[in-house]
Amino acid sequence: MSNNSKKSARDIWVFGDYRNYFQNRVTLQLLARAVDLAPKIDARVCAVVFGNDVDEYIREYIAHGAQKVYVVDHPSLDNYPIETFVKLMEILVDKYSPEIVLIGATSFGREFAPRLAKRLRTGLSADCINLEIDDDGLMVQTAPSFGGNLLAKIVTPETRPQMATVRPGTFQEIPHDDNKKGEVIKTDLPDSLPVERVKVISSVRSQERSQKIEDARVVVCGGRGMGSKKKFKKLFELASILNGEVGATRPVVYSNWVDHDALVGQAGKHVKPQVLFSFGISGAIQHTAAINDAEFIVSVNKNPNAMMMKLADVAIVADANQVCAALIKELKKRIRN
Ligand SMILES: Cc1cc2nc3c(=O)[nH]c(=O)nc-3n(C[C@H](O)[C@H](O)[C@H](O)COP(=O)(O)OP(=O)(O)OC[C@H]3O[C@@H](n4cnc5c(N)ncnc54)[C@H](O)[C@@H]3O)c2cc1C
Repeated sequence: MSNNSKKSARDIWVFGDYRNYFQNRVTLQLLARAVDLAPKIDARVCAVVFGNDVDEYIREYIAHGAQKVYVVDHPSLDNYPIETFVKLMEILVDKYSPEIVLIGATSFGREFAPRLAKRLRTGLSADCINLEIDDDGLMVQTAPSFGGNLLAKIVTPETRPQMATVRPGTFQEIPHDDNKKGEVIKTDLPDSLPVERVKVISSVRSQERSQKIEDARVVVCGGRGMGSKKKFKKLFELASILNGEVGATRPVVYSNWVDHDALVGQAGKHVKPQVLFSFGISGAIQHTAAINDAEFIVSVNKNPNAMMMKLADVAIVADANQVCAALIKELKKRIRN
């Protein structure tokens, strides 16, 4: 029987997603948010780590604010077997009754969290962009809804745990502190575990960027208005001169002009650069919801009435490819001189 009724424990759990650790900081970001929220409901901050030889992650999560870490460490947990992870989490939640479970909206988290919520018969808000605690001690989960056209504030008043996935880059991690202490609770692998229906034969890491787009000080974003994959490639040249990263809208990613990794928006990354260039982008809410922390926006569009032009600090009514080429030429000239 899953834990779907209110119980007294007030712990906030953060699922430890440590794959691609140096690029994917979402677990640390969630721990930071849990540290902010915990005093409001008199809760402890806990991390949950499953895997093979995970001691370094236990230490890391404690150094980033976890007061307690629940661990299942076993060679069979290499490669993130999802059905096993769901089962292990279900067992631990049933045993310890956390109040809140937070999971990063990574590719794994997006598969893992709904399966877990279903098992636990509780609610789940996906892709949240904020988490707060209200006067009744409930977690208010702000998530895009109706195709991203509205931001909904969602609470889970009846069932437990309250569950949310949160987009990477939404919260700031707190600095690593080796002096922090935490309790470690190790659990053995149960005798009976699901037979995985999907077997991971090998995994290959996609080509890494020089920096994470979420942390880039300059982001050069391109949309359908760039016209073609070949023309879109010019944006990489511009980004490289500016020591920035390239972002893209959904049509661009769906047309395979660039990897999904570059997607900026509701379904992709949240960026907060000092300067954001936007080339040939209309400014749909699903995209702009993820750029509202940009400090300065330069938008290039043939249509002066495009929403992206209204949001811009500098709006250039022109052909995106021509402006991109002119900028590259001018910047190269300045570098030479
Ligand atoms: C559930 C859901 C989730 C979504 N998530 C995302 C998301 O995460 N990220 C995202 O980006 N979108 C997302 N979308 C899609 C989003 O609604 C828009 O369709 C998308 O952002 C539009 O991309 P775009 O601006 O590149 O294309 P368009 O809307 O087609 O705009 C192209 C722009 O280029 C301009 N243009 C054309 N030619 C030129 C030229 N030569 N020079 C200059 N300007 C030119 C046009 O005037 C136009 O403004 C989502 C949609 C849904 C329903």
